Amino acid sequence: MKKKNSETALEIVCQQLQANPLPETTTHRNRMEINSSKGDKVYVVSQRKSDGKWLCGCPDFIFNKRSASPCKHLLAMQAALEEAEEVAQKLIG
Ligand SMILES: [Zn+2]
Repeated sequence: MKKKNSETALEIVCQQLQANPLPETTTHRNRMEINSSKGDKVYVVSQRKSDGKWLCGCPDFIFNKRSASPCKHLLAMQAALEEAEEVAQKLIG
């Protein structure tokens, strides 16, 4: 079966960020487990399908309620995903 661009892009992102891809749910896509900078914790990053909003399970995101600026995990993830989508387009067409 032919893979979708989005799936390939997510795989590339996970490799880059050394994250662990998680299966899509009915409500969230682009799900992955990402390691904390100290490497002692794992946070789940995902994108809500209903409004496209990115969410992270880290304390920074949850307690600071960063509606204006995302946490460092989301910044890294989004930057990597943008690049990966371009790569995936070239790979798959
Ligand atoms: Zn985070």
